[in-house]
Amino acid sequence: MDKNTQIDIPQQHTTLFKTIGKAADELDQSAYVVGGYVRDVYLGRLDTDDTTDIDFVTIGSGIQLAKSVAKKLGSKDVTVFKKFGTAQVKHNGLDLEFVGARKESYRRDSRKPIVENGTLKDDQLRRDLTINALSWSLNEETFGLLQDPFHGVQDLKNKIIRTPIDPEKTFEDDPLRMMRAVRFAAQLKFTIEDETFSAIQKMAHRLSIISKERIIEELNKIVLTHKPSYGFELLLKSGLLEQFFPEMVKLQGVDVKNGQRHKDNFWHTLKVLDNVAAVSDNLWLRWAAIMHDIAKPPTKRFSKSAGWTFHGHDALGAKWTPKIFRRLGLPLDDRMKYVQKLVRLHLRPIALVSDEVSDSAVRRLIYEAGDDIEDLMTLCRADITSKNEWRVQKYRNNFDRVEKKIKTVEKKDKIRNWTNPISGEDIMEVFDVKPGPIVGKVKDKIKNAIFDGEIPNDRDEAYQYLLKLKEDVGEKE
Ligand code: ATP
Ligand code: MG
Repeated sequence: MDKNTQIDIPQQHTTLFKTIGKAADELDQSAYVVGGYVRDVYLGRLDTDDTTDIDFVTIGSGIQLAKSVAKKLGSKDVTVFKKFGTAQVKHNGLDLEFVGARKESYRRDSRKPIVENGTLKDDQLRRDLTINALSWSLNEETFGLLQDPFHGVQDLKNKIIRTPIDPEKTFEDDPLRMMRAVRFAAQLKFTIEDETFSAIQKMAHRLSIISKERIIEELNKIVLTHKPSYGFELLLKSGLLEQFFPEMVKLQGVDVKNGQRHKDNFWHTLKVLDNVAAVSDNLWLRWAAIMHDIAKPPTKRFSKSAGWTFHGHDALGAKWTPKIFRRLGLPLDDRMKYVQKLVRLHLRPIALVSDEVSDSAVRRLIYEAGDDIEDLMTLCRADITSKNEWRVQKYRNNFDRVEKKIKTVEKKDKIRNWTNPISGEDIMEVFDVKPGPIVGKVKDKIKNAIFDGEIPNDRDEAYQYLLKLKEDVGEKE
């Protein structure tokens, strides 16, 4: 063992690990702490206050070791998963997972693994990545000794993502590992080693046997990284993105006509996503960035007078949002509606730039965006990706002006979370009608009158207006 690669076990957990080692000694089994925990200590990113899951592997019965550890710790909280040969002990807010070392292989067209007992190395070689296959011995005699048969520590140092064994075999056994390889590369800013990357390119189509729930969990971790474009570039180039999000892949490409070119909307989208990521950790605002131009390809037109246009891509993108969310296994509740709204409205603020724009248009946008107006402005600012500094500055100044307008109108008219001061009952009473389409029509008229500034946002004035509407109808009759 290279002395330089030896790192001390965090002292917060030393007593716990010694207890586990002792329990293992008594059972005459070897025991190791393994996986993400060890990796994160080497990376110096283990936050002991934040750590909840720790994985242990033992040569022998994981269930038996778990039971014996629980006894020593005085924990009554043991859950046994007999079918998987694993057990979980809860202790002081930690989830301790125990498993017996296994040899495992999946049959090609079945998710059902063939499992046999194995050695520590057998267990390590069926893990996804070398950096996730590190372990420390916990038995008294060898306490703290690193077991690193696949040079994971070296890969951590060199910032390399690689599978412990032939990558095609690793990915064949569980194709989700291809997503995990990209996810860890993205989170850690590592490079995927060539042979591993070529294997992903070759086997990307095998992702089809993986459930959308497992895929989206990895994808969202990529979306939440510091600079998501890095992970998405890997997803694109590996062919993985195509497997579950072809609409995004189709954003790629540039057309030229009469010497006019439009920007590549895939790279533009990633830039917008990075821009949002730089100012917000909100996963759903990041999804709005991913989705904002998603419907550009089918709305693309060229005309001599207008050049390249994408009319209606905002509305069509909003229409696609539930469909894409459902297929990806993303939620269909208010979070989807939020993304859908931002996609639908993402061109609206820029339309408010001109000085001639009436307060009416501003009121309508505030009403439609509601409490999400600030997020909408964040998205719109992120959408400025021109390489020309002068242009960027000009657009930013424009947004400053729009934001000012919004603030002024907001203050004056209190339109955010607006509700109509006139109720359906008011209308039915004044017009002497039963519920029916007329009620909605009159309500809309009042809303328009308020938004257009014809009357103030005030119940008395609106009621007077309602009486006048009735009078006008009476005259026409
Ligand atoms: P994090 O918790 O930060 O996502 P982690 O490495 O702890 O990272 P987990 O999903 O908690 O990831 O898995 C724990 C360990 O189990 C991993 O470090 C790895 O050794 C192993 N592992 C997890 N998923 C797989 C898989 N699909 N194939 C092979 N090994 C896996
Ligand atoms: Mg974990």
